[in-house]
Amino acid sequence: MTRPEFYDEGALVAVLTTQPLDRLLDYKAPEGGCLLGAFVEVPLGPRKVLGIVWGPGRGDWDISKVRSVIRVLDAAPMREEMRTFLLKAAEYTLTPMPAMLRLATRAPGLGDPPSMRKIYRRGEGEPDRATDARRRVMETLADYGDLSFTLKELSEMAGVTSSVVKGLVKQGVVSEEDAPRDVPFRRLDPSLPGKELTEDQAAGAAMLAEAVRSETYGTTLLRGVTGSGKTEVYLEAVAACLAQGRQALVLLPEIALTAEFLKRVQARFGARPAEWHSGATMTERRRIWRMVGQGGAQLVIGARSALFLPYQNLGLIVVDEEHDTSYKQEDGVLYNARDMAVLRASICGAHVVLASATPSLESWANAEAGKYKRLELTSRFGPAVMPTMGTIDMRAAALPADRWVSPDLQKAVQARIDAGEQAMLFINRRGYAPITLCRACGHQIACDQCDARMVEHRFLKRLMCHQCGETKPMPTVCPSCEAEDRLAPVGPGVERLGEEAALLWPDARIATLSSDMYGSARALKAEIESIAQGGADIVIGTQLVAKGHNFPNLTLVGVIDADLGLQGSDLRAAERTFQLMRQVAGRAGRADKPGTALLQTYQPDHPVIRAILAGDEEGFWRAEAAQREAAGVPPYGRMAGIILSGPDVAAVFDIANHLARADGPLRQVGAQVYGPAPAPIARVRGRHRVRMLVKADKGVALQGALRKWVRQVQIKGDIRLAIDIDPQSFY
Ligand code: ADP
Ligand code: ZN
Repeated sequence: MTRPEFYDEGALVAVLTTQPLDRLLDYKAPEGGCLLGAFVEVPLGPRKVLGIVWGPGRGDWDISKVRSVIRVLDAAPMREEMRTFLLKAAEYTLTPMPAMLRLATRAPGLGDPPSMRKIYRRGEGEPDRATDARRRVMETLADYGDLSFTLKELSEMAGVTSSVVKGLVKQGVVSEEDAPRDVPFRRLDPSLPGKELTEDQAAGAAMLAEAVRSETYGTTLLRGVTGSGKTEVYLEAVAACLAQGRQALVLLPEIALTAEFLKRVQARFGARPAEWHSGATMTERRRIWRMVGQGGAQLVIGARSALFLPYQNLGLIVVDEEHDTSYKQEDGVLYNARDMAVLRASICGAHVVLASATPSLESWANAEAGKYKRLELTSRFGPAVMPTMGTIDMRAAALPADRWVSPDLQKAVQARIDAGEQAMLFINRRGYAPITLCRACGHQIACDQCDARMVEHRFLKRLMCHQCGETKPMPTVCPSCEAEDRLAPVGPGVERLGEEAALLWPDARIATLSSDMYGSARALKAEIESIAQGGADIVIGTQLVAKGHNFPNLTLVGVIDADLGLQGSDLRAAERTFQLMRQVAGRAGRADKPGTALLQTYQPDHPVIRAILAGDEEGFWRAEAAQREAAGVPPYGRMAGIILSGPDVAAVFDIANHLARADGPLRQVGAQVYGPAPAPIARVRGRHRVRMLVKADKGVALQGALRKWVRQVQIKGDIRLAIDIDPQSFY
């Protein structure tokens, strides 16, 4: 190994900062010198900003004006492999490096010197008097296992004053300790026994462990129906990785980061891993960031941005539910965590496991092409079998306009209730009703900021825009014609379905699960656990329920509108519907009771619906792949979305038209540009949006051409241009 480069005091170094500048800045190395990759604080104008020593200075600056690095921060220097990763990710996604660096430094207080502070964790015994407030403190501590809190965090999360916590400290029930701000995570023990695996599972686990031990890059697509034991199998790969002294990362869609999952990991390895997600406290975030960088965290379970933590020695990345659309970040830096995981692993010699019951067509095609290894688990673990699937032809159901549960579905649900089992009704629409219509003038209430309808949320007693999140109270008078009490809900949302269910099954215990109906992620998790333990007869839910929750007593899933996803013009509409329906159906019959899934549809002969019913996944993918190949669209062609937005629609179109005409750099590589056209949602948060689509053959170096192309226009004022490589959403 070569020693990292060192710059003596006064030597010129180039620093990459998190500020939106398009170049590196020259500084003089500080007293004591600094290493390549060091995290530093540098002066920029009157401010002090965070940066990384990126290489030798360029010296194209008046040397007498070059300032000195203020100080080197107390953090392990960024490794070469991480710098390469950021560079390549920036190149691929056409993201400026400062924005990449911001992604990689998303922990507060990186510049703070190491110091001590008071932390609070579970102590001994029980409170002498159990008040409500005290109980909440104990519950919060229990919920987070071994984790420690600052006084402020603990009292805020429990919703109590700090004196309640202090009172518990006096009794010793909560312990107060002086601790370094960031402590290593408890060691995980990979040699603890896992579950006894079936033959299939054991063979898969051995193959993955072998791949991990080779310490070379490779990707395996681990496919298996829900409940086949994919998690058990990849945890063995994690064990192999930890046993080698390397770090492992398991990426999950945010919503699948459940207490249930973490308990399984803890049971397997004897201690809790690091958990990186949006709900993590600032204290935990900084601790994880530092410990990952120093080797004090062996395993991170995290949402997509965990990919940008400063791993020292990463040997394995698991991307669970790899098809999940939430891996694509749709804000700020537009990256797909699944693809970036593969990139990162290829740089650091790690193995990637992509796990899913319904892989994305991209991954399926990569496996077909031999780029990924394939690993299949074909049966569910134990006595559980795949649910029987059927359709209900809604053309024959003759329902009144405000009813959505067909008589057939009603009967099927009733039978489950009578048998003491659970049924689930699935509808992928949040809120009460998607449309609020004035019966007097026909006006539909829309968002003031977006070209989108406002959705009634009766539970919150407000109208909400699902584009920008804006809410307003439900009016009693039509905003257009001022008629009184003529506003009516049209169409079903999850809340309205709950109402219908209460009418149809007045004696049943009904639980409605929608992400916006619970004050916190914690409350939602508690509700899900209570349902799993039998706390409801009927579960009504949105997409949220499709994601990996395990309800052992659930034996029927009724899909209210299986056609919903098929209507979009999105190129992945069929794939998404197929995946979602299979995932939802997979909720039924996980334990020892066989399950049934019933799909209400107006198009029972639609090829996608038929493929779902037949359970012929290979057949579906082959047909879908053939269609996409013929159309030259991903994964058989390349695409980039261009979104221009601004407050003035004419100005936005001017630039877009100009770009469309100046398409020389694109034509040079055989790429074509389509548009500009107003985006399907033409206004969001008061900004007008115009889209263009660039298409090219597979294998074309599209990024370089795009860069040259957009460089021809000057984006001025408050107009913004975003480039979305491999777009997933076309709104
Ligand atoms: P998947 O990730 O494919 O949905 P899981 O790994 O979650 O499947 O397994 C489904 C359920 O079956 C879990 O409760 C898991 O603990 C259990 N299970 C799977 N394989 C085994 C096994 N070999 N021994 C015991 N339990 C198992
Ligand atoms: Zn809006």
